[in-house]
Amino acid sequence: MKIAVLRETADAEPRVAATPETVKKFIGLGATLAVEAGAGAGANISDAAYTEAGATVGDRAATIADADLIIGVQGPAAADLPGVKQGAMLAAILSPFADRARIDGYAAAGVTAMAMEFMPRITRAQSMDVLSSQSNLAGYKAVIDAAEAYGRAFPMMMTAAGTISAARVFVMGVGVAGLQAIATARRLGALVSATDVRSATKEQIESLGAKAIFVENVKGIEGEGSGGYATEMSDEYKAAQAALVSSHIAKQDIVITTALIPGRPAPRLINDAQLASMRAGSVVVDLAVESGGNVEGSKVGETAVVHGVKIIGHKNAAGRLAADASALYSRNVFNLVNAFWDKDAKAAAFTADDEIVKGIKLTEGGKVVHERLSA
Ligand code: NAD
Repeated sequence: MKIAVLRETADAEPRVAATPETVKKFIGLGATLAVEAGAGAGANISDAAYTEAGATVGDRAATIADADLIIGVQGPAAADLPGVKQGAMLAAILSPFADRARIDGYAAAGVTAMAMEFMPRITRAQSMDVLSSQSNLAGYKAVIDAAEAYGRAFPMMMTAAGTISAARVFVMGVGVAGLQAIATARRLGALVSATDVRSATKEQIESLGAKAIFVENVKGIEGEGSGGYATEMSDEYKAAQAALVSSHIAKQDIVITTALIPGRPAPRLINDAQLASMRAGSVVVDLAVESGGNVEGSKVGETAVVHGVKIIGHKNAAGRLAADASALYSRNVFNLVNAFWDKDAKAAAFTADDEIVKGIKLTEGGKVVHERLSA
């Protein structure tokens, strides 16, 4: 089995889908590896490091020629896979709802495309879960970005010249990114509070030493829900949440928002009036900015200043820690291939009736086959 590692061509994408570590592991399974020249540059991995690990390094056409499995971080355009062979597989973050035409392009090219971000949230697939591995780093980096933009310190400091009070950090949305943001802000010495719509997060917030701020008079989502994801809330809940946030946010210095609803635009959690109630110099980091944004006035790839509050809207937050993000993403991809590796055939056999394969396979045999993409 020949595995091809692409150089990413998307804007602001420094990550890479294989590291020398995973190249060696793939070779250990019996695969041959081809890496496109420059693929690791954004993550500080040289072509020589891939060669030393046992891969060949060449241009895109040579890398893709005869490849059985092509791996990437973001999905390449179908037209950008020169000479791809019929039936070749592609594994990457494919964002089918954002760009359906690209998926149709894979089908037309005879490529079997697998969306890493569709990985089912089952125990067996945890080590392949790219949303978790990348969100965790994004949550950490959001706090570091906020600390950098904030003109004050995070911890309380008692000095001869007087006392500096601890920063108040409020985390909205306590999934993987939010939990890491809470832990990071706590490590930096901030006073942390957090909220979510899922009641199961309350205990998690408190176990990290933060204060849970919850709507009490209207029912939220009890327990973990389907796969642990949130859904759109009722108008009554939204109104109660807005009132709660309004009274809390005026006292906060830093707000990190991470709230997402799968398959829908991100919920709006902070409006202009709430921003106006914050002290000038406060910082808001909107990690959901690329999904429509949790914060009114946040802009993709920019820091907006509204009522003296900085609203940070970085693109590709995990990519801002390119080396770690690449290392974790690469292991996620290796773990997927390894789980389906057939030792005798020395190739991955993605069995059609497996829950993981059904979850991630978007195209096959010239057709779009995923149930979420039909209709
Ligand atoms: P996510 O990125 O989809 O959303 C982030 C958070 O925003 C979630 O906690 C969500 O409840 C919250 N949210 C949505 N709407 C909101 C609103 N209006 N107000 C406030 N908060 C709102 O979530 P995620 O990080 O993917 O995690 C979702 C769940 O999946 C968690 O329970 C996590 O532990 C679980 N998970 C399970 C596995 C597994 O393999 N079993 C792997 C990863 C995550």
